[in-house]
Amino acid sequence: MKRGILGGTFDPPHVAHLIAGEAAYRQLALDVVSFVPAGSPWQKADSGVSSAEHRWAMTSLSVEHIPYFVADDIEIRREGSSFMVETVESFDGDDVVLILGADAALGIRSWHRWRDLLERVELAVAPRPGVGRHEVEHAVPKPIEWLDMAPLDLSATDVRERARKGLSIRFYVRERVWQYVQEHHVYG
Ligand code: ATP
Repeated sequence: MKRGILGGTFDPPHVAHLIAGEAAYRQLALDVVSFVPAGSPWQKADSGVSSAEHRWAMTSLSVEHIPYFVADDIEIRREGSSFMVETVESFDGDDVVLILGADAALGIRSWHRWRDLLERVELAVAPRPGVGRHEVEHAVPKPIEWLDMAPLDLSATDVRERARKGLSIRFYVRERVWQYVQEHHVYG
């Protein structure tokens, strides 16, 4: 099985995540793309991340009715910090393609056991405005498959800020996620 893994805080999961997953699914002929919300995002500790329960619910709703997208709660169930290398190891037997935004790819050598991780996966990188391709290729000691998608100037931080200001986040996220955010007052 050829599996894409798209990990993130998903606070909330937004359209750029879905578009990157879709591009990877087509371009790398994946069987499935797993969206894996981090239980305890160690690089974002103390920054007021929404509860794992909300992020899990939103991630599940975000992939609903897309047969080749699944949400996986493996990192939420695991105690302690969420390390991608351990997540990839848990899919032993699969060929794993790690799907990352260009900003995340830039920092990959700061990740826990990054050498083991890079040995184990192929990399599919989504362009992100403000991050140069050469910069990424220089930072990542492995060939990269660039995803063919429009660079989208959108982050979960932007979506949260819009919601907190009372601006609409409809169509920035899937419909059921938009509804969930309103019903549960996730961003106030
Ligand atoms: P935040 O603003 O809270 O830091 P984020 O929008 O960057 O969040 P994450 O959940 O942290 O989202 O990201 C999960 C993955 O999706 C990361 O690899 C990130 O680089 C990638 N990603 C997020 N937004 C985009 C985007 N607009 N274009 C390409 N990749 C993206």
